[in-house]
Amino acid sequence: MKYHIITYGCQMNESDSERVSSFFQENGLLEGDEEEADVIIFTACSIRQSAIDRVIARGKEIKKKKEKPVTILTGCVLEEDKKSLSSIFDYILDINDLPHWPLPFLSKSSKQYFEIVPKRNGISAYISIMTGCDNFCTYCVVPYTRGRVSCRPTKEVLKEVEEAVEEGHKEIWFLGQNVNAYKEELTFGELLKETNKIKGDFWIRFTSSHPNDFTDDMIEAMKNCKKVTNYLNLPVQSGNDEILKKMNRPYNISEYKKIITKVKEEVPDVFISTDIIVGFPGETEKHFRSTLNLFNEILFDMIYIGKYSPRKQTVAYKMKETVSPSEKKRREKVLNELLKESNLEKNKQYIGKKLKVLVTNSNSKGLLVGKTKNYKSVSFKGSKKLIGSFVDVKINDYSLWGLKGTKIS
Ligand code: SF4
Repeated sequence: MKYHIITYGCQMNESDSERVSSFFQENGLLEGDEEEADVIIFTACSIRQSAIDRVIARGKEIKKKKEKPVTILTGCVLEEDKKSLSSIFDYILDINDLPHWPLPFLSKSSKQYFEIVPKRNGISAYISIMTGCDNFCTYCVVPYTRGRVSCRPTKEVLKEVEEAVEEGHKEIWFLGQNVNAYKEELTFGELLKETNKIKGDFWIRFTSSHPNDFTDDMIEAMKNCKKVTNYLNLPVQSGNDEILKKMNRPYNISEYKKIITKVKEEVPDVFISTDIIVGFPGETEKHFRSTLNLFNEILFDMIYIGKYSPRKQTVAYKMKETVSPSEKKRREKVLNELLKESNLEKNKQYIGKKLKVLVTNSNSKGLLVGKTKNYKSVSFKGSKKLIGSFVDVKINDYSLWGLKGTKIS
């Protein structure tokens, strides 16, 4: 039997898919293309309505096929969505229950979800350290789909890192809806420091963090630990205090700016990305201008912009939508334009610099592509044998979204 996995969503969903793949292979199934698969698994994300719409559309396409494979939907699925989705998919199954999925071609395992060793790509190892969230931002479904915060024991996490490094992975991503809420034997800052002590040549990254759980310990780790990268994703969501309050984000902009100033002062060449929602109910032009002002002050290196869409079960679902779809689109565009302008200016400053790059892939132009320690994209000419290794590159050109260079030595 062959299986095929389609993943929609964030790295948490990617990490779920790696475990599904591993478990199916343990049960004797082989990975195959969508066309030849007997089982298709969708690992989905309910955070945005657009993602769920895509899952529905793909599910319906598959359902129309003459020789229809078995379809499974898993990942972050809202209870409310399950009703409408059950007519499209054969099974809707809880990802945490993977070892016990009631499928005739899988044998039940005595393992727990995290005991399944994920099938990884050999370069980046995504390691979930916690799942769920207690924050209940008014627009977000995570506390309903993933439940409340649950952290993995520190020893288990460190063991998984050691194994991934032994297998040759060069980049460890600590994942969680709110990684810095991690608290077990160690706090998150302590976990970073402890992971840094593990022998081997690798980088440590993490996502996503919440401003409210941000600690000086994390800054210390980013500053002093050689393997902890100078890349920080710290979602702000809006540049306006009133909107933050309506979103139930328990910090204000002046507190957020204080964190960013400190990080920039302490961590050399730090790359800061953020998440912003445009068009939240009640967001006026004035509120949106505060977000633009915040951008101009911080000059984020990347913004993941989401146009607000109401999600059932959340508090914001009951709020009256006040921003039209075209206005949301316009606000997204304005922010994007600011980001592009600032990126061009920043990227220009990299010309002539020598940077260490982790090669992760090759692009359609036959160039190798990878990331610097601070998560800048770099492309350069070289042999595909270099994929998965660190290479020194001298930067001699740039574009909007990345740098171009030549391999040194
Ligand atoms: S902190 Fe993140 S995961 Fe938690 S409710 Fe807010 S947006 Fe959702």
